[in-house]
Amino acid sequence: DAGAHPDSAAMLARRERVLAEVQEHYYATPPQIERGWREYLVDVDGRVYLDMLNNVTSVGHAHPHVVEAAHRQMRLLNTNSRFHYAAIAEYAERIASLLPEHLDTVFFVNSGSEATDLAIRLAMAATGRRDIVAMREAYHGWTYASDAVSTSIADNPNALETRPDWVHTVDAANSYRGTHRGADAHRYAPEAVAVIDALADSGRPPAGFICEPYFGNAGGVPLPEGYLAQVYDAVRRHGGVVIADEVQVGYGRLGGWFWGHEQQGVVPDIVAVAKSVGSGHPVGAVITTRAIADQYRTGGYFFASTGGSPVSSVIGMAVLDVIENEGLQQNAWRVGQHLRRRLEALMEQHPIIGAVHGSGLYMGLELVRDRSTLEPATEETALICDRLRELGVIMQPTGDYQNVFKIKPPLCVTIESADYFADQVERVLATGW
Ligand code: PMP
Repeated sequence: DAGAHPDSAAMLARRERVLAEVQEHYYATPPQIERGWREYLVDVDGRVYLDMLNNVTSVGHAHPHVVEAAHRQMRLLNTNSRFHYAAIAEYAERIASLLPEHLDTVFFVNSGSEATDLAIRLAMAATGRRDIVAMREAYHGWTYASDAVSTSIADNPNALETRPDWVHTVDAANSYRGTHRGADAHRYAPEAVAVIDALADSGRPPAGFICEPYFGNAGGVPLPEGYLAQVYDAVRRHGGVVIADEVQVGYGRLGGWFWGHEQQGVVPDIVAVAKSVGSGHPVGAVITTRAIADQYRTGGYFFASTGGSPVSSVIGMAVLDVIENEGLQQNAWRVGQHLRRRLEALMEQHPIIGAVHGSGLYMGLELVRDRSTLEPATEETALICDRLRELGVIMQPTGDYQNVFKIKPPLCVTIESADYFADQVERVLATGW
């Protein structure tokens, strides 16, 4: 509790005084954390929290292999990416090797916003067009182009009214609480195709289409079967390119698939990644075809000074080593399945749980006031998160109604930790919040 440690409340006040108000922090009175280990965080009072939220530190807090790689490289050399050094080539080859062969060309950046922004500009440059189609209720970043295609009202209540004229949206393909639910969800794809066709008919065929290939912002809702195949076909039929924002859902977290787009059985033209690739260090990448990348020369300038720096590259490779050597994608599947069973059992006893979304260690526990109207339990979700904090669990809401627990812990999380989380959720639901 911010009040517990004598300096903690004062430090929070200093933070709030000096940082812009939009730079928010979790919780009204957050614990002041000072170290992390695996899926745990420790505050200045020595209290340990189970971090069920942190997909940025994908392989676990302070992983020794990542720390050691960073330390060694920091002592040896760090510089901008225009110098010739081995790590950038080695890392680019490794990232490209995770995707189908024709996605063979890599741009390194420092964040997810940069990655999606660049992806959009690549689509524009490759097609010589400027219209982009994006799925609603999404978040892709805060830079100009990435923000333009982000229409989640949780982040910006006026999002849909304030889009630049080159942004066009299609319905959020949410089969749980969207326009079309359950078996009707197959309707989203033809409707999105109709939007794309209409744009082309009006003389503005889109440069590209962007969405998360697994609906992360909604809490990990899979897109309807065949959705991306139909939408990607339509975009390509009109000469556009398709972008997968894998910033949240990619990189092994889904357990069953390394990439979100694999779950849909499609291959995008441009893939944007960040967050988990650096396990907390700012690393991002855009991977595309040589042909698309080459056309960027005519579309704009690219140079990210520290994108793919020696330190970023060795950290990126160390993260991949850990994912591979520790079988973290398999762990995501194993622990995720266990946690899903626990949460589904809770759902039987507690009507406030409307659904358990997701796959592997990207899960969403959606809280509703009524299972038929799906009225979002927004206030309850916030209160339960506060109560969980008191019980030693870090959890926060996501989604346009902030009523979905975003369960995306470091991929090293154990069955025991998942059980602790489920036990505490059970305790709060049983005893009140
Ligand atoms: N895309 C998605 C799907 C995201 O969830 C986020 C971050 N929440 C971003 C892009 C932006 O990434 P960053 O915060 O690293 O700029």
